[in-house]
Amino acid sequence: MNDSYRHKGLRQKLIDSLSEKGIKNTELLEAMNRVPRHLFMDSSFVNFSYSDKAFPIAAGQTISQPYTVAFQTELLEIQRHQKILEIGTGSGYQTAVLLELGTRVYTIERQKDLYNIAMENLRPLGYKASFHYGDGYEGLPTFSPFDRILVTAGATEIPKKLLDQLAIGGRMVIPVGDRFGQKMILIIRESKDDYKESIHGNFAFVPLLPGKSN
Ligand code: SAH
Repeated sequence: MNDSYRHKGLRQKLIDSLSEKGIKNTELLEAMNRVPRHLFMDSSFVNFSYSDKAFPIAAGQTISQPYTVAFQTELLEIQRHQKILEIGTGSGYQTAVLLELGTRVYTIERQKDLYNIAMENLRPLGYKASFHYGDGYEGLPTFSPFDRILVTAGATEIPKKLLDQLAIGGRMVIPVGDRFGQKMILIIRESKDDYKESIHGNFAFVPLLPGKSN
C-alpha cells in the first residue's frame, strides 16, 4: 500500500498534536499512528490528510477530524476483544482506528455509496469489520449486546433502541444537539435500568438522519 515515509512523518506530527491537545491514551495514539488516513480521503483533499481537520467525503458527508475521533474513542475506554457498534461508517477511518485497538467492529451506514466506499477503503488494508447498510437508529438487535457504542453523527436525542443494545457495564458515546452543534454525551449502563450520563464538550457533526438512502 502507498504509505510512504513522508506520510508516516506527517502522521507522527498529527499524533503529537493530538497529544498536545489533551489526548492521553497512548494505546489509542499508537493505534491512530498506524492508520494511513490519506487512504480514506477523497483525492482532492489527500494532501491535507494529516491536518487535524474534517474533510468532505462522498454524499455530502465528512471524514471526522482526527481530534474528534481520538476524543470519542478515548471516552469509550476500549479494551481489546470488545464488541463495538459504530453508527456512521463514512470513510471507514474511525472503523480502522477501532480495529487497531483489537476490537470486533459492527458498523452501520445509511448511504449506499459510503457503505461501498468504506469497504473498498478497508479491505485492501486488511481491516475486517462487519459492514451493514441500514439505519443506525435501529442498531443491530441480532448482534447485541455491545460493549461499546459509538455514534459518529449528531443526534437530536439519544436513540432508545441503542440504549437497549448496550451491555450492562457498557459505554456509549454520542453527540447530541441540533444542526448548529452538539454536546458529547457519555452514557454508562450501570444496571439493566440505570444509565449514567455525562457531558464532555462541544462538537460539530453532520446530522444523524433517519432511514436509509440510496
Ligand atoms: N466515522 C466516519 C464519520 C462519517 S460522518 C469517518 O470516520 O469517516 C457520519 C456518517 O454517519 C455519514 O457517513 C452519514 O451518512 C452517517 N449516518 C447519518 N445518519 C445515519 C444513520 N441513521 N445510520 C447510519 N449512518 C448514518
